[in-house]
Amino acid sequence: MKLIPSTLYIVATPIGNLEDITFRAVQVLKDVDTIICEDTRVTGRLLARYEIPKKPLIPHYKNQEAKAIVPVIKQLQEGKTLALVSDAGTPGISDPGFYLVSEIVKAGFRVEPIPGPAAVTALLSVSHIPNQHFYFEGFLPHKKGRQTRLKYLAEMDCGVVFYESTHRIMKFLTEIADYFGKRELLIGRELTKIHETIFRGSCSEAIAFFTEHSVKGEFVIYVSN
Ligand code: SAM
Repeated sequence: MKLIPSTLYIVATPIGNLEDITFRAVQVLKDVDTIICEDTRVTGRLLARYEIPKKPLIPHYKNQEAKAIVPVIKQLQEGKTLALVSDAGTPGISDPGFYLVSEIVKAGFRVEPIPGPAAVTALLSVSHIPNQHFYFEGFLPHKKGRQTRLKYLAEMDCGVVFYESTHRIMKFLTEIADYFGKRELLIGRELTKIHETIFRGSCSEAIAFFTEHSVKGEFVIYVSN
């Protein structure tokens, strides 16, 4: 595949099942000069699975995104091609990416998307709740502003998608019951992985279900309006 020199490619990678990657994503990762990534072990496993030759990696972590800007701009100035990946799914979607992209655009370079999986779109694709319009919240603030945000979101005139971790899921479900009342939920746990669970039902049914079953893993939740 012919890559465009001095371009940053934003490459979506699997959210669990390593087979969920596009041909173009694999080709771009094979052909770029450098990959910008979060956990090098996670990206290393993906590269090994697709026999992508080892190449220079630039670290890019949440809250330390600025560190990548100078080396990335230097390589783009030299005419090199780079790919940004995150540990899972689409970079910039509840993951680092936005800051780097905005700085690279400001510096006048080309940024191209290589689309693919994201937990939000995977869940909405199996939604039994109307989803012509939805609001993507992602992670709620952990402490400050959480209650204000929940109150605001409960008044929206469309469904809301949340990301949540194993540690907070039961607290989260209790809060949804408190703030949103009787709403229908669609919950994806460990989507595309061995222990994938798709739950459909009310908040109280969800609390009962996840009290009985494992809450290990990653959660994406769609709350009806
Ligand atoms: N960039 C990713 C995307 O495109 O969806 C999101 C990354 S964010 C740091 C990680 C969160 O996404 C998890 O805590 C969970 O809420 C959600 N998530 C990621 N993979 C998931 C999966 N396989 N099943 C359910 N939720 C998932």
